[in-house]
Amino acid sequence: MDILSLVKKYESRGPRYTSYPTALYFSDATSAQELQAAALADARDVSLYIHIPFCASLCRFCGCSSSVCTDPRKADEYIGLLKRELELWRDAGFGRRKVGQIHFGGGTPNFLLPEQIDRLNSLIEEFFQKDEDLEFSVELDPRTLTRQKVEAFARAGVNRASLGVQDTSEKTQKAVGRIQPQETNLAAVAYLRESGIDRINIDLMYGLPFQDRESFSRTLDDALALSPSRLALFNYAHVPWMKAAQKSLEKFGLPDAETKVGLFTQAMEFLEGAGFEYLGLDHFALPDDELVRARRDGSLHRNFQGYSTRGALTSFAIGLTSISQTQDTYRQNHKDMPSYARSLGEGRIPTARGIKLSKEDMLRRKIIMDLMCLLKIRYADYPCDFKAKFSLALEKLKGFQADGLVSLSPDGFEITKTGRIFLRDVAMLFDAYLSDPTKRYSKTV
Ligand code: SF4
Repeated sequence: MDILSLVKKYESRGPRYTSYPTALYFSDATSAQELQAAALADARDVSLYIHIPFCASLCRFCGCSSSVCTDPRKADEYIGLLKRELELWRDAGFGRRKVGQIHFGGGTPNFLLPEQIDRLNSLIEEFFQKDEDLEFSVELDPRTLTRQKVEAFARAGVNRASLGVQDTSEKTQKAVGRIQPQETNLAAVAYLRESGIDRINIDLMYGLPFQDRESFSRTLDDALALSPSRLALFNYAHVPWMKAAQKSLEKFGLPDAETKVGLFTQAMEFLEGAGFEYLGLDHFALPDDELVRARRDGSLHRNFQGYSTRGALTSFAIGLTSISQTQDTYRQNHKDMPSYARSLGEGRIPTARGIKLSKEDMLRRKIIMDLMCLLKIRYADYPCDFKAKFSLALEKLKGFQADGLVSLSPDGFEITKTGRIFLRDVAMLFDAYLSDPTKRYSKTV
């Protein structure tokens, strides 16, 4: 079957599986106290996520939790709230743990001024002990990056940066409200390398207005000119019922599924030709990158920040809307600033909702995450009679096999090269929550 027919047959809506169950199923059914007790009881070293919820302007495609702010001094107040959050955790018994991974996400972490970055780093050092082998990464918007900010990140120990590039064509940039000439990207990379931050990720996006084979080919050339070691190729998630600003993109027309798959396969061929390896959903890396090595030795993990090699750490997140994970819980902070600040002001850790996973959830999460990270399943790796328990899913997989998307064997199954495009659709066969008609997701293709 040709690729277009496959898209027509399998195109659906589904989660991106940065968690299982997905955040749509977090609720207050498990109390904040119980979720916090699980964090205190999980004594592992920490992977720390800090959310910076401010952006200088709004990109119309954005699906992140952020708000537009023109006064950088607003972040002073916010850093004060982060400090309060850490103090409350310390008072509750969360000791000065070792931290093996730190990630600043957003919003725009480089919304912070250099002195604010220094202050945030001092906070981290007050409450955590940095591991010698720390991976410290930050998401950056090249449009508002300065040499001084990069130097402050380098002083803090940042050793990996993800640059949001998305698309370098002017026509697409105008439509999405994000003007970012390639010179800006080149300057950002130069600041980073001159400050010793040479592990660079580039984030691109496909599915935006006016993208076609020719324009995307230039974007890919521009991205490689920045010499990244990792490249993410995000499928634009059009969810205007959740992100109202996205509605405005509809007047330009959005690429259809056929065009999107064409862009993805074009990029996949281009990147593999340039020596990159496919990691899993949307992600590529050079063969000597630790994510590729982790994928080969089976230690690759997936969490809210994407793919990671540090699966042995407990995921501890602070800041507005941030999501943390223990072995059997997820918990999320308040999503709106007044509730977040009020909770801290009243001396309560700002957990708003979460979920405690059942044994069944944990089994299905392992299957789905293994698919996302390893692109294969070996039945013997799961504590159940896999073939009997998932007979319905395996029956459906026979159809995927007939279409060349998976390859089944007596011991398990693997995603084929064409099947990568439909990875989410395969994972969805093992998701027990998808029958709920009140939850809406983005398109899988
Ligand atoms: S894409 Fe990045 S810079 Fe643009 S609004 Fe979203 S978080 Fe902010």
